[in-house]
Amino acid sequence: MQAEIISIGDEITSGQTLDTNSQWLAERLGELGVRVLWHTTVGDELEANVGVFSAAVERANVVVATGGLGPTADDLTREALARTTGRELVRNDEALEHIKCLYARRRWPMPPRNEVQALFPEGSRMIPNPTGTAPGIAMTIERAGRRPCHVFALPGVPGELKEMWPATVVGLLREAGAGRRVRRHRRIKCFGAGESNVEAMLPELIRRDREPRVGITASQTTIILRITAEADTEAQCLAAMGPTVATIRECLGELVFGEEDEELQDVVVRLLAEQNKTLAVVEWGTEGLVAHGLASADKSGRNFLGGLVVTNLAGLHSALGQSDEVLEAHPPTSRETAAAMAAACRARFGADYALSVGPLAEASSDGKVPPVFLALASESGVHLTEPPMINRPALRRVFYSKWALNVARLVLLRTDRV
Ligand code: ATP
Ligand code: MG
Repeated sequence: MQAEIISIGDEITSGQTLDTNSQWLAERLGELGVRVLWHTTVGDELEANVGVFSAAVERANVVVATGGLGPTADDLTREALARTTGRELVRNDEALEHIKCLYARRRWPMPPRNEVQALFPEGSRMIPNPTGTAPGIAMTIERAGRRPCHVFALPGVPGELKEMWPATVVGLLREAGAGRRVRRHRRIKCFGAGESNVEAMLPELIRRDREPRVGITASQTTIILRITAEADTEAQCLAAMGPTVATIRECLGELVFGEEDEELQDVVVRLLAEQNKTLAVVEWGTEGLVAHGLASADKSGRNFLGGLVVTNLAGLHSALGQSDEVLEAHPPTSRETAAAMAAACRARFGADYALSVGPLAEASSDGKVPPVFLALASESGVHLTEPPMINRPALRRVFYSKWALNVARLVLLRTDRV
């Protein structure tokens, strides 16, 4: 089954409202094994709506629309569906009764205008809306020589939609043949290489026609490989994905840090806990992102001892307790300062490990961006790293924070193996 989701409303096409309905519906359809191939967004204009519905009914077997079911003149979904299918709009008594009851319960007089919400294209059925005045519409549209198209029009209000979906729409979709196949995803997360490098390391896997499908996306400098399988049961999906996941892990090695919702800080805290070690951080220029991540990941509070977040040299001196000869003798952006920051932080917290990040200096007047140094101090000395430059200024903080966590992860992984 191939589906199209249609979002209707000027508030969406104008950018005022973010279309979260489509995202939610796409996930729900995916769970039923229905592949969503199109997302369409259209403003409150009749001709445009008729065009969008006609195209959708032609190319998809399932069409789910949200919005445009209100009582006002700009709510055009009923009329657009009637025109698209060449059917009359007729009064649905059940729907009218529902709207009247809703007003009676609220002890408000029903505005005559709301009667239009009981107008349904001939041959369609009502999808009850327990909390709002706009009932949904379900229609089956026959297509010569092909399987019919199932259309569901739901209100735009997210809360109403989410109630109506499991209560009625899922059952109708199952009757129409959805849910016989299941679709499952797995996400493998990597850090430390660019998207195209990761892709180049996975020959053959990212081919369009491959089963299970593998897609690659970058999110906040983390590279995510998304594997999708479709089968009769969940167990079959998972079995089909197993060898692909194993190949990915084999090809990418230590670039892979986790799966699903796991983040770098979760892995670092897990490794610290397994080895019964503690970590502290000192950050300059990352707005405390490393400490924030570790503090949220370490629910027990046993392995992450704390973080110092500084924004200038005076702050660094006072955070580390005293002025240090090395800090005085070298510029803030230097290997020596990074190493001294990590060592001093380790001493101050009495931690097994201490990470230092930054400073993240701004570009100079000639446009050159100074390097960033990261250091990890431990019992056996200081491990110093100079990560590559990142071109997008908006991602610098996130990138270096993640790089620092990744250094800690790799050091802990290797220690574990010794
Ligand atoms: P209906 O009357 O069918 O419920 P409508 O188009 O008349 O739909 P609106 O008045 O346009 O509804 O929107 C109702 C609420 O739902 C608004 O708060 C709007 O921001 C929200 N909404 C509408 N469409 C979406 C969407 N696609 N994603 C997220 N929120 C939406
Ligand atoms: Mg609207």
